[in-house]
Amino acid sequence: TMAHSKSLLVLENFIAGKFVPCSSYIDSYNPSTGDVYCRVPDSGKEEVEAAVKAAKAAFPVWSSKSPLERSQILNKLADLIEHDLEAFAQAESKDQGKTITFARTMDIPRAVYNFRFFASSILHHTTECTEMATMGCIHYTSRAPVGVAGLISPWNLPLYLLTWKIAPAIACGNTVVAKPSEMTSVTAWMMCRLLEKAGVPHGVVNVVFGTGAKAGEALVCHPDVPLISFTGSTLTAQRITEKSAPHCKRLSLELGGKNPAIIFDDADLTQCIPTTLRSSFANQGEICLCTSRIFVQRGIYSEFLKRFVAEAKKWKAGNPSDPTVDVGALISKEHLEKVRGYVKKAQAEGARVLCGEGVDSLTLPTGNQKGYFMLPTVIAEVKDESCCMQEEIFGPVTCVVAFDTEEEVIERANNVKYGLAATVWSSNVGRVHRVAQRLQSGLVWTNCWLVRDLNLPFGGMKVSGIGREGAKDSYEFFTEIKTITIKH
Ligand code: NAD
Repeated sequence: TMAHSKSLLVLENFIAGKFVPCSSYIDSYNPSTGDVYCRVPDSGKEEVEAAVKAAKAAFPVWSSKSPLERSQILNKLADLIEHDLEAFAQAESKDQGKTITFARTMDIPRAVYNFRFFASSILHHTTECTEMATMGCIHYTSRAPVGVAGLISPWNLPLYLLTWKIAPAIACGNTVVAKPSEMTSVTAWMMCRLLEKAGVPHGVVNVVFGTGAKAGEALVCHPDVPLISFTGSTLTAQRITEKSAPHCKRLSLELGGKNPAIIFDDADLTQCIPTTLRSSFANQGEICLCTSRIFVQRGIYSEFLKRFVAEAKKWKAGNPSDPTVDVGALISKEHLEKVRGYVKKAQAEGARVLCGEGVDSLTLPTGNQKGYFMLPTVIAEVKDESCCMQEEIFGPVTCVVAFDTEEEVIERANNVKYGLAATVWSSNVGRVHRVAQRLQSGLVWTNCWLVRDLNLPFGGMKVSGIGREGAKDSYEFFTEIKTITIKH
């Protein structure tokens, strides 16, 4: 009915500086209540075509602006998002199910920082020059923006990951067509409302909303989009690689993980336990960097397990807008069922579920009874070959197993197809270096987790990705290099 549809938030695509309605829409759910609260454009080829056209038209002017001019616009956009930080955080929490605390302290501040960071870093790149005196030549390299960049992002850290792509892409002088996840589109739409005020010219940033199969694939297959930066699952990345191959597109792929934590018997457990709880359960375990395999050296195994489980039981699940809540809702009903399915499989294989799903009772406020909640779940005695130790679960589930030697644990930690992030806990500096060097992982944090310097490369090995993002890496991805020789 009209009355019903009026109460829903209805998003529109943002193309050539204007909000444009779409002919069909997809329902978007509030994960903490299970209600449909928003309608997202179900864009396809036609909408992507219009967005690419606008981005192409905006490219000549935007790409010829100086880095300083672009930098000033990025900084202005950062200020505007920061000014509305609370509204963005509320929206992200409602749309995604994450706690308001996480959105306030992590997602939105980082989105702001992404723009500030690339506004600054774009001013500091240098190119190479060599001299060939005997030939009377100098050679130098020159970098230029590539054109229209296609940006596709997932639902777990919606604005955070989308801006991690938009900021470097436009800082380098490209124009973009972005497609956020159909499950979490609201904050991207809110950001579009600020672009004009920030001074972003029409057509520089276009956002088309919709599903991966329709809108995402239209973008990947579009002949005038020479580069695609994608963050999401390995399965989708394989499809994107196939679909883009006929066009020889440049791809940056940031994919899933099955991240180990390796805890030696000389680890400082007072630091290690709270950090490993966070690395396992932060954002409901829906971060690509979350720990899901904890290897603990035999001598401290039972003590670690006892303390870890006792602390995990203290995590409170409930209404994400309650600032005392630690665990919000999972993204969807289907995802919740998938994550629960892994716990059931582990049980069927003879593993022990020590807390959380199926063990502890979950009491929810009346308004949240239909939300997609699950308690932090710790599983012990899981075999390395089990799907729970091999596949990305992407929920608040972590497996704890014992190991004896350094050599053994390196081999077991590397024994998965993924290679995104690892943590190592030990007070032996030599061991920390040795183990970090041998782990097949794009990122290794020792005695900490998720401490990031955006200057340095981010990305995964093996099926966790291709390419890296960071100050220099994103600059290289979003620009085309040329070598020029001058003979005098
Ligand atoms: P997903 O692959 O299902 O979707 C990601 C995006 O791709 C969405 O916008 C989706 O609509 C789109 N998409 C889906 N099919 C497509 C297709 N055929 N063509 C083009 N686009 C398509 O992933 P998700 O479930 O949204 O996100 C969770 C996954 O993302 C996890 O595997 C997680 O590890 C990974 N992730 C990785 C990183 C990283 O930096 N490495 C960060 C966050 C999340």
